[in-house]
Amino acid sequence: MRSVEEALKTVLDNIKVLGTERIPIQDSLGRVLGEDVYSNLFLPPWNNSAMDGYAVRWENVKNAAKENPAKLNVVGDIRAGLLPDKPVGDEEAIRIMTGAPVPEGADTVIRVEDTKTEDKIVSIFKASRQGENIRKRGENVKKGDLVLTKGTSIGPGQLGSMAMVGKPVVTVYRRPVVTVMSTGDELADFDEALTENKIPNSNSYAVASQVLEAGATPHVLGIARDNKESLREKIGQGLSGDMMIVSGGVSVGDYDFVKDILKEYGIDMKFWTVGIKPGHPIAFGLVGDKPIFGLPGNPVSTMVTFEVFARPALQKMCGHTNLFRPVVDAIAEDEFSDRPGRTHYVRSLIRYNDGKYYVKSTGSQGSGILMSMAYANCFIILPADKEKVLAGETVKVQLLGRPVDYGKQPSGDTAIKKEHGHDCC
Ligand code: AMP
Ligand code: MG
Repeated sequence: MRSVEEALKTVLDNIKVLGTERIPIQDSLGRVLGEDVYSNLFLPPWNNSAMDGYAVRWENVKNAAKENPAKLNVVGDIRAGLLPDKPVGDEEAIRIMTGAPVPEGADTVIRVEDTKTEDKIVSIFKASRQGENIRKRGENVKKGDLVLTKGTSIGPGQLGSMAMVGKPVVTVYRRPVVTVMSTGDELADFDEALTENKIPNSNSYAVASQVLEAGATPHVLGIARDNKESLREKIGQGLSGDMMIVSGGVSVGDYDFVKDILKEYGIDMKFWTVGIKPGHPIAFGLVGDKPIFGLPGNPVSTMVTFEVFARPALQKMCGHTNLFRPVVDAIAEDEFSDRPGRTHYVRSLIRYNDGKYYVKSTGSQGSGILMSMAYANCFIILPADKEKVLAGETVKVQLLGRPVDYGKQPSGDTAIKKEHGHDCC
């Protein structure tokens, strides 16, 4: 049987990165840069003060000491947002605020804590070095500097940096539109009566939210019934997106027509079974260059196979270079056994304590027991050839982007060092 690794390689080999679009940077959180970003500015644009203090000439203050202060005439003041209107002359000082441009003639800023002012005369008690407390023009970035590279995922830091370098609009990769469809005569949506022969359609909701979480846009098409006409119609609509995800109807039941209808639409089927648990029947193919996933209908199987195959595919379409969730080593807290042959994704809860991760399963692992997903924040990945995990054994765990209990913070992590005085605030 095709392994998870082989199947995933087949999927990713058949996925293309989408094109790009231009959007305002405030809409770009979570998107991927489709261009290199260069600075349009020098930052800071002028030499400016890193402290509230006095702009002075080093020559006038270099011998200043507590018992022998330098005394200078205060001839003006400059706030951030104003440009200096006069230079600093010999034996003169100008009061200056953090971020204000350093006036001509001054080469040093003395922080206010090392001074005392009376009747327009400032006494300076300490001066450490020429040029202190001055941030140089362009020391942050220079005009033309490359600040972010194509393929970078945009988080708050990247978004803020684009604003900082004067870039209001950015090129990003397009968000894939994913059509989501459930199949089954037994399913009822919320606008339908839940008669005794029906169960709620949960897959459409779970999958649509997985699509959203992967950075794509879901178009939920509702339920196709287990007959060829209904499937033909819905699948026809589903081909309008960049990817289609159908859940249910891909197994070998008498009414599992999804593969037949996909064939009518000319699918180039790449595989329809994978050695994965839960979720053994899973179909993947292309109609034209449009990827189609036929995920198994059992709600846990649907979600797990989405995580393992469809999510990395979407990450690739979105332009990400890192397609996978983090995998960490953790210590199993309980014993676990399984028949070998398929890679098993055990829904589990991971926590962190005193430098180590610990993990235990969320209980009953039936492929219809969606609570096993609801309580989980990770999967233990049990390799296909592994029959048993003993308590205390180290296992591989894939995180799912859900909250993890980190207990008390490891010592040192929260200590904010104030060694830079005002400038660190
Ligand atoms: P299937 O893959 O169509 O054979 O479905 C397998 C199992 O999953 C059956 O018990 C279905 O009732 C259930 N199932 C299929 N689709 C959904 C859905 N959208 N929501 C909840 N359960 C489903
Ligand atoms: Mg079905």
